Amino acid sequence: MSVATRRRARVRVEGTVQGVGFRPYVHRLAGELGLAGYVLNDSRGVLLEIEGSSDAVASFLARVGPDAPPLAVLDSLTVVEREPTGDDGFEIRPSPHGERADVPVAPDSATCDDCLLELLDPSDRRYRYPFINCTNCGPRFTIVRGVPYDRPLTTMAGFEMCDECRAEYEDPSDRRFHAQPNACPRCGPSLSLLDSEGRAVARSEAALPAAVDALRGGAVVAIKGLGGYHLACRADDDAAVGALRARKHREDKPFALMVGSLGDAERLVHLGDAERALLSGPQRPIVLAPRLAEAPVAQSVAPGAVELGVMLPYSPLHHLLLGDFGAGALVMTSGNVSDEPIAYRDEDAVQRLGAIADLLLVHDRAIETRTDDSVARVVASRRPLFVRRSRGYVPAALTLPGGTLRPVLGCGAELKNTFCLARGSRAWVGHHIGDLENYETLESFTEGIAHFERLFAVAPEVVAHDLHPEYLSTKYALERDGVELIGVQHHHAHLAACLAEHGELGTAVGAIFDGSGYGTDSTVWGGELLVGDVGDFRRAGHLAAVRLPGGERAIREPWRVACAWLMAAGATPPRVLRELVPERRWAQVAGLVQSGVASPLTTSMGRLFDAVSALCGLRTVVNYEGQAAIELEAACDPHERGRYPIGLDSVDGVLVIDPRELIREACADVAAGVGAGVVASRFHATIAAVTVDSCSALAEATGTDTVVLSGGVFLNRRLLESACAGLDARGLRALTPERLPIGDGGVSYGQAAVAARRMAAA
Ligand SMILES: [Zn+2]
Ligand SMILES: [Zn+2]
Ligand SMILES: [Zn+2]
Repeated sequence: MSVATRRRARVRVEGTVQGVGFRPYVHRLAGELGLAGYVLNDSRGVLLEIEGSSDAVASFLARVGPDAPPLAVLDSLTVVEREPTGDDGFEIRPSPHGERADVPVAPDSATCDDCLLELLDPSDRRYRYPFINCTNCGPRFTIVRGVPYDRPLTTMAGFEMCDECRAEYEDPSDRRFHAQPNACPRCGPSLSLLDSEGRAVARSEAALPAAVDALRGGAVVAIKGLGGYHLACRADDDAAVGALRARKHREDKPFALMVGSLGDAERLVHLGDAERALLSGPQRPIVLAPRLAEAPVAQSVAPGAVELGVMLPYSPLHHLLLGDFGAGALVMTSGNVSDEPIAYRDEDAVQRLGAIADLLLVHDRAIETRTDDSVARVVASRRPLFVRRSRGYVPAALTLPGGTLRPVLGCGAELKNTFCLARGSRAWVGHHIGDLENYETLESFTEGIAHFERLFAVAPEVVAHDLHPEYLSTKYALERDGVELIGVQHHHAHLAACLAEHGELGTAVGAIFDGSGYGTDSTVWGGELLVGDVGDFRRAGHLAAVRLPGGERAIREPWRVACAWLMAAGATPPRVLRELVPERRWAQVAGLVQSGVASPLTTSMGRLFDAVSALCGLRTVVNYEGQAAIELEAACDPHERGRYPIGLDSVDGVLVIDPRELIREACADVAAGVGAGVVASRFHATIAAVTVDSCSALAEATGTDTVVLSGGVFLNRRLLESACAGLDARGLRALTPERLPIGDGGVSYGQAAVAARRMAAA
């Protein structure tokens, strides 16, 4: 090769390019093309230089992006020409001293196709090995104890690699080069099957077939997964599902299902392209999709729900389990009792799940961080909507538009808590912690924050928190020493989270509807029309306020809110509602509404849905959060096109949505024997319409075309889709959260974004 045709290029790659096999991939590609040079990880991502014939360099540059490993996400790739040095050989160099990786830990990822082939190949040395993995797949976040992400700092530390595994691990041309959890049947973790007392009844290869036999026979089996334990039973067996419900103390909250393939999923639910992509992606969330009438699952799997939550196998153990079990679906619900956090430590699992499960299928690779399954659905035929973002997504970074001057921690909300750490232009939203109401969740909150601070080298100087003084996340913030505190209003955090996620720094209108959030006037907000940007906001409108008789109790007993709204509207309670509530209790609660004793004022949209669900006689007492609204949505008659009148008034320059006429007419309908499905449909259409009307009025007054829809009430597909369509028809751009939960799981990122903007403005 003549020097004249020789070319050298320096390539800078940014994005998710560390811990995903990018360097060995570059090494292989360079080798294939006969190029010299080096590749290394540094604090910005991957840096590499290549030298060789200009044809080979050109072909490298053309392929390096498109052929990248499946878990790599390239945000940018820039090329600078260099003077050829006459180098030969290509090497993977260590990271520059003192620099630390920005993305040291990737999310857990579903078994890749290459591993799956080996798993099912009788001639492979890992045939049917439940812990097979490689650089392109397997556990990551859930096994990491510290950084750098290296085997000794994972829960694989206790397993010494055999010679064959070690050779793969050290060979840059091997798919298992630096795959930290690399293992085989000779040197890695193995399965055991325990009885409910924790005694082993089968080991290694014998454990799985015995578990499958038990499942076929209708047993409940606890199964250790990537981020915690599941409780499994066959989904078509009413007795098995019923037993699981009774032992778990879960009355009617839907159970998730696992099936072996997309084809099996399509026997249960209706799937569009976006759902299929979401289901089979490496993150493998539970996908909520419309249930097929003929779905072969027991009624008790998801009573009263129009959707089923379905997921595909994401670990090799799941693949073997579902493969051996056959074509049917398994219930795979979180391994816990009632509302406790999911079990993930082995001793704890036997203790807590022994009373529920007949058997426990366990293994000896520890789970470091409890990470629940993520839950998502697709709305408006393409947008992903997260109910919960955890396993498979965490700890992937999000961009913080505009960046933050100082490292910041967002402590999140009280329910469905997540926390968020941010440094520079990156934000890391933690795993789903849950409701901060007991010692265990509070502990995983504080430990989770400390873990992330170490993993991502963020030492928060600013701590953003909710305004609610009683939230444990607020109290945690107030107790942190030597930091600057920034209080962020709950609904503003929802608005800011959605804007920041979309990189939108301008002013927008936000309809933020949820159960409750502490307002700047110390009342309970929840049906809010905001105008603002990431840094600041004003309350431009809200739902009319009503009493919440008995406070928290009214959340569990929607008939109480119905009572308050009926009184506010001067409506007569329909007989179907009065028959469900004892006369004496109705009178007591009416007294509370009248006196205001123990009955704070609220503008909560979530509670209005509860009230309507109760006044139709659908649900007067809930067994899980959101049940009344979920059942109201499920009841909707799809053919009904009517609406109710609803007030939209300007009071001192603030829009007030006044549903009293709606309540009166809905009551009259129910009293006249109109079906709950028709009432529910009319109610949904009315709220969607008033949302569109109020948002477009505010958008016009503000001079913006951007409207954010967020808050837990918008988990309601019917409401969200019709509001989006309505805004669309008015030429407005409807933004919804697509990468973080629309409910309170997105609040921590919003808090961090608000704090960052305020710092920049100060
Ligand atoms: Zn793999
Ligand atoms: Zn081995
Ligand atoms: Zn909220």
